[in-house]
Amino acid sequence: MLNATAGKTLPTTIIGSLPRPSWYTENLGSRSFLDAMVDIAFREQYEDALAVYLRDQEIAGLDIVTDGDCRFDHDVGGQSWTRYPPQHMDGFEKGSPKLAPTGAGGIRFPRGHILHDYLEARVMPKVIGPIGPGELQYAEIWKAAQRLTSRPVKFGTVTPELVAVALQDDYYPDVPSRIMALSEALNEELHRVADAGCPAIQMEEPQIHMLAGAARNMANPALNAEFMLDVFNNTVKGLTAKTEVWCHTCWGNPSAQRMFAQKQSYLPGLELLNQTDVDVITFETRSSGTDELKAIGETITNKKIAIGVIDHHTLQVESPEEVAETARAALEHIPAERLILCSDCGMGREGMSRRHAFYKIVSLVLGANIVRRELGLPEASCIAADASLSLIPSA
Ligand SMILES: [Zn+2]
Repeated sequence: MLNATAGKTLPTTIIGSLPRPSWYTENLGSRSFLDAMVDIAFREQYEDALAVYLRDQEIAGLDIVTDGDCRFDHDVGGQSWTRYPPQHMDGFEKGSPKLAPTGAGGIRFPRGHILHDYLEARVMPKVIGPIGPGELQYAEIWKAAQRLTSRPVKFGTVTPELVAVALQDDYYPDVPSRIMALSEALNEELHRVADAGCPAIQMEEPQIHMLAGAARNMANPALNAEFMLDVFNNTVKGLTAKTEVWCHTCWGNPSAQRMFAQKQSYLPGLELLNQTDVDVITFETRSSGTDELKAIGETITNKKIAIGVIDHHTLQVESPEEVAETARAALEHIPAERLILCSDCGMGREGMSRRHAFYKIVSLVLGANIVRRELGLPEASCIAADASLSLIPSA
């Protein structure tokens, strides 16, 4: 059900991660969140980092904010995104983490490629028993952010299949059963998040669009786009009755890299994406172009559509006019009541600097304001662009 975006026309948000402040040197590691928050040094840095992530989004003027993925460690390619669940769930060996084998999950990058380091960072504990939510503590992590702001905080998590394919496993007989076990456990935890009052839950990067256009996996034909749709809807089952649920899609994020050398297409996966049990689907449209907006608008029905107007791969800050142009292109195919403007993906995970991310968010809001003016909608306050507060004296 609509919650964070209910009644809002053309709201703005980002996907999730933000660049870490240089002074945020503490790492959560395999400690539970509640246990780490007992440590004064961790608690102070975590809460201060959260405060600046949220404040940056507020003074830029975003309608829906995130916690910047504050729980993640300072690590190669933002690997914590995938590693956090196995480090904190039940069913995993304590200590002795194992490196994912070559080609796990179908991704390969040769040595010499920046993402080869990312593959070498897929060091996860081994599955040794039935998987359960354990100490994920997603509800507590969401509350720690929501109590610092009056704006709705969207909570995001990696999807089970991305975690499952990078694991070594002594317990489950095959990959599909491991994926479904993770899916069940995540669903249980996400109900805790929804019950705590979270206004938007975002499932990040289901493999539906990735596999729909790919050659069938001959080694494991069960791992196909149709199965990933079943996994997705199992992971979110019951959640849309409680809160707003988002499905985030893009074509790559670690170390601000695309995962594919060639341009990818959403077209083969759109029908399946439309069958996800969610309120909002996000599409990467700034980086990969606006040419599929017509098909997106025609195929994704009865859901809101969030389009990327800010590229998370590049340092060049989009101008407000460029943001407005992308939004206008979307409005040709998607009615304003169903359109959300966001970044293509998160801007942290070993991506750009804090200032680059901040000014990209400011441009996102200023560009949205241009289009809002054209449509006669109320504009967002953007303190960051208030000329009267410039320190430069007038001539
Ligand atoms: Zn993404």
